[in-house]
Amino acid sequence: MAEKEILVAYGVDVDAVAGWLGSYSGEDSPDDISRGLFAGEVGSQRMLDLFDRYGIKTSWFIPGHSIETFPGEMAEVVRRGHEVGVHGYSHENPIAMTEKQEENVLLRSIELITDLRGDRPTGYVAPWWEFSNITNELLLRNGIKYDHSLMHNDFSPYYVRVGDSWTKIDYSKPAAKWMEPLVRGEETELIEIPANWYLDDLPPMMFIKGNPNSHGFVNPKDIEDLWREQFDWVYRELDYAVFTMTVHPDVSGRPQNLLMHERLIEHINSHDGVRWCTFDEIADDYASRNPHPDGKG
Ligand SMILES: [Zn+2]
Repeated sequence: MAEKEILVAYGVDVDAVAGWLGSYSGEDSPDDISRGLFAGEVGSQRMLDLFDRYGIKTSWFIPGHSIETFPGEMAEVVRRGHEVGVHGYSHENPIAMTEKQEENVLLRSIELITDLRGDRPTGYVAPWWEFSNITNELLLRNGIKYDHSLMHNDFSPYYVRVGDSWTKIDYSKPAAKWMEPLVRGEETELIEIPANWYLDDLPPMMFIKGNPNSHGFVNPKDIEDLWREQFDWVYRELDYAVFTMTVHPDVSGRPQNLLMHERLIEHINSHDGVRWCTFDEIADDYASRNPHPDGKG
C-alpha cells in the first residue's frame, strides 16, 4: 500500500453578525443579531480552545465586519497562530453585487486582514459559496493564490477554470435552441481547494427563522457519521487527498458540536499519514506537486 498523504483542515468562517446581514435574513431582528454577537464573542473563543487542545492550526475566513466588530477576539485568532483569509465584508452575495461593489468589498477586506495579520492574505472563501464572473480575475489581480468556494471535485485540489458557459431552457423557443452542451472555459493559475456542502456544519445545524426549510435540530451524532464516513472512504480509496471541513463559531461554538469535533479529531488522528494543515499550506503543497505552466507556483 502506498504511503498515505491525507491533508486535513478546518476552515472557520466567522459569519457572526455579517452572516445575518448578508445571507440569513436577520438584518431587522435584534435577536438574530444577538446570535451573531454570540458567534464573535463566545463561539469563536471556544473554537480556539478546541484547536489548542489538539495542537491544530486552522484557517479562519473572517468578514471585514467581524474583524471590526470583534477586534480583540479576532486578534486572538492571529495570536494563537491561525491563518486568516477573506470572506467578504458583510457576507455579501458576490453574484448580487455590481463589479465595482465586489471589487470595493474585496479591497477593503484585504486591507483589514492585512492590518490584522501583519501581511496580506492569500486565500478566499466566497460568502454563500457564490463565485461571480469576475471573482477569479479580482482574486488573482490582488495576490490571492487559492479559493475555497467551487465544487468541480471534492477531495482533490485543481486549478480554477473561468468562462464556462451553458444554455438555459427557454420553453417559448424551439427545442433546438437549448439543446447545447456546456462549453468549458480556460484554466487559470488560481488554486481551488474544493468546497463541499456535505462537510459544512451550518446547513444542517443552524436554525434560521427567515429560511423556510432551515434545520438546526439535527443530532450532531448523525452529522458526525456523515463526516466520518466521508473521511473513511477518502482514507481507503485515495493515497493523496485533502479533507477540508467548513465550520462556523455560530454553530460549532455550541457544546453539542464542540464534543462532535473532539470525537472527529480523535478518529482522524488515529490514522497514519494524516497531516493537519492550514489552507495556505495545502495550496503550496498542491502547487509543488502540480506546477501551473504560467504560474509562479
Ligand atoms: Zn460564511
